[in-house]
Amino acid sequence: MERLIRGVFRHLQRRMLFVPEGISRDLAERIEVTQVDDWLRTTMGTVPVGMIIALVLYAAYWTHRGDPLLQAGFAAVFSGYATLFWLACRWRRQRREGSNVFGSMHRLLIMRFLLGIAWSVTLVALMRLSGTVERAMVASLPSGFMSTALFGGPALYALSFWVPMTIGGYAVLYASGTLFTAAPLACLSFYALLTFGVILTFDRKVLERNLAMARLEQHAETIGILLRDFEESASDWLWETDGALVLRHISERFAEVMRSDMRALEIGFLDLLRAHQAPDGGGPTAIDPLCALEEAIERRRPFREQIVPVCIGGERRWWALTGKPLFGEGGRFTGYRGVGSDVTSAYATRQQLAHLARHDPLTGLFNRNEFSAALATCVGNGTRNRTALFCLDLDEFKAINDGHGHDVGDAVLRIVAQRLRSALRPEAVVARLGGDEFAVLADIEREPDAVAIAERILETLARPFAVGELRLRTGISIGIAIVPDHGRESETIYRNADLALYRAKAAGRGTWRLYDGQEDTALLDRRLIAGDLRQAVQNGEIFVVYQPVHDLRTGDLVALEALVRWCHPTRGLMMPAAFVPLAEQGGMIDTIGMFVLASAADLARNLPPQITVAVNLSPIQLRDESLPERVREILARRDVAPARIELEITESVMLESGGKPFEVLRRLRAGGHQLAIDDFGVGYSSLAVLRSFTFDRLKIDRSFVCHLDESGSDLAILRAVVALGGALGISVSAEGVASAAQARRLAELGCAWGQGYYFSEPISAEQVMQRFTPRAGATLPHVEPIA
Ligand code: C2E
Ligand code: MG
Ligand code: MG
Repeated sequence: MERLIRGVFRHLQRRMLFVPEGISRDLAERIEVTQVDDWLRTTMGTVPVGMIIALVLYAAYWTHRGDPLLQAGFAAVFSGYATLFWLACRWRRQRREGSNVFGSMHRLLIMRFLLGIAWSVTLVALMRLSGTVERAMVASLPSGFMSTALFGGPALYALSFWVPMTIGGYAVLYASGTLFTAAPLACLSFYALLTFGVILTFDRKVLERNLAMARLEQHAETIGILLRDFEESASDWLWETDGALVLRHISERFAEVMRSDMRALEIGFLDLLRAHQAPDGGGPTAIDPLCALEEAIERRRPFREQIVPVCIGGERRWWALTGKPLFGEGGRFTGYRGVGSDVTSAYATRQQLAHLARHDPLTGLFNRNEFSAALATCVGNGTRNRTALFCLDLDEFKAINDGHGHDVGDAVLRIVAQRLRSALRPEAVVARLGGDEFAVLADIEREPDAVAIAERILETLARPFAVGELRLRTGISIGIAIVPDHGRESETIYRNADLALYRAKAAGRGTWRLYDGQEDTALLDRRLIAGDLRQAVQNGEIFVVYQPVHDLRTGDLVALEALVRWCHPTRGLMMPAAFVPLAEQGGMIDTIGMFVLASAADLARNLPPQITVAVNLSPIQLRDESLPERVREILARRDVAPARIELEITESVMLESGGKPFEVLRRLRAGGHQLAIDDFGVGYSSLAVLRSFTFDRLKIDRSFVCHLDESGSDLAILRAVVALGGALGISVSAEGVASAAQARRLAELGCAWGQGYYFSEPISAEQVMQRFTPRAGATLPHVEPIA
């Protein structure tokens, strides 16, 4: 039974309270608790009022105190109020103690309902006992009691009294005999309707208010939990100030971070930061990080992730502070609230990354990027200051790396960096551009200052480097260009210093060179050509021409010399003298040489077997031990016998150190090639070269041939050379034969072959082939017989 009543009550409560559907259980319970509190509060208020009215009426009808119905009514009313009061007091106490009184609340409602009935009975009894005057008062009393229900708060509670009192109202009318009289009946009914409507409306308003308050409470709790959780788990902390910017509500976490007592932290926020401020290490030009923060606070602006260096207990830390200004009524500033986090480790990583982005990890010097930026700044300063740019390159560093390993190489680079730093003023920019290249930017007043700096650098680096047990030496070459004298743009100044460096290296290393307009322009031109040359073979710009070589006795064409040409896209036809040395320096000579060899072999294959084709080899190519093998492959692929390809080497091969070139030559000769010594006589080692190696042919340089007609000394030399060739069993060939007379003279001297403009200028492969057409007819191209 009890359970049934409770169920009905709950159902009614839900319906009558208009607790909105779909709200969370937690929220519904919160509202119910508020309702209960309201009920109890209202009960405590209404009991004394009801008791006083009851006592007044009891006194007024004292003369009728013997009436049994009246006695029963008043007895019920007094005991009802007493019980209500007792119940309300008990439950309030229980509520304060935190017990859930909700389950017993239906008893309160029943008591109210019974009290309503008791009042109705009492009023009916009073009506019966009243005279004409009192009747009006008694008739109005139910309406009065109905109105008290209005202050009863929640609908269910109000209605628990309103319902019996409304019925009582009709009962009183009945007792007065006016129930069916239009005016009293209508008044009572309209009043009942009005109060019912007001109860429901009032209830709704209260409910909405309670709901809003409950929600607010719930949010506050959730936020509180989150914040607590935030403070407990994260490394961050909350901070808050009042309108005077004094820290308030110091959290435990904040006190922990500050390694201080919570109370001691209730000081000005900015004062605290200033007191613990640490220098940020950004140099004298760095902006004070607190200034930005102070400015934001002064302007009452929010700030985000403001990085502030602090010193806590002697330890340097980095904080990120975020804050938001708070404004109260009328836009009054009430303080700041925000979050702080210790970002020391993240900041340190960021700093490290920033350092890495600007510095060379091996030496700690600036890297190329930073150097370029510094150079751009120098150049951007215009002509106000003079700055010298030094481009430095270690001499023979490759040998250290190759000979002792990269660790030793790295150690040398580090020592070089240290010495450079110590040789220069602290404000000089010292950078490692990569490999063994360094660069320095130093302010100077006059050109000699730059020279003095270069000499100081050379001197410091001339001392041997101690790496473990090793004592190593490496020189350095320096190219200098001065801003603005030698250029007003970064690129120009850098290129000019680099050109000067190139010249310093060419001058024998271990020295410096200052940019020189004329010399370096020519050098630049050569370097531009060298740059283009890298692409030339792939672009098909390189081609080969052939100069016929004739037998000086018979006039027959006996051989051809392959001579390389470059059809430059903008410079036009270029002769070997203009680019072969560059190809040798730039490491492209092997590619070009192999291309010429392949072209010569292609031609030889289509020529009569007795015709040989000569190909020039650079001494650089002879450094490569794989050369004989590669030459063999090229010829084998074309099915050309090595004897068809003669190889020409200049005397400069003698300048090559070690025996490697001669070993390569020996293997080439063993492979079946004829070897010729080219330009014989111009080198000071002419005779030495003949002693070092056995050649098959000796080609007299054209400088001895061209003056043959006039110069007696040249004739004597030629005669001696031919005799030497004869003695050593080497065939002699002459270059630069320009006339029939020269050809005849050379033939008379015993020179076997000759080539020169008299016979033919170098011609294309197609022209060569035309001269041999038709191939079947064995008649060879022939210049008129000489002898
Ligand atoms: P070289 O091997 O002594 O070639 C002969 C040079 O003399 C050629 O110059 C040729 O055109 C020139 N010449 C021939 N007859 C006369 C003449 O009657 N009067 C004058 N004034 N000159 C004559 P070129 O083609 O300019 O070659 C110059 C040098 O370049 C060659 O001298 C050779 O040392 C080198 N060279 C040419 N092609 C190659 C190549 O494929 N590889 C290498 N490593 N060097 C090459
Ligand atoms: Mg030659
Ligand atoms: Mg020659």
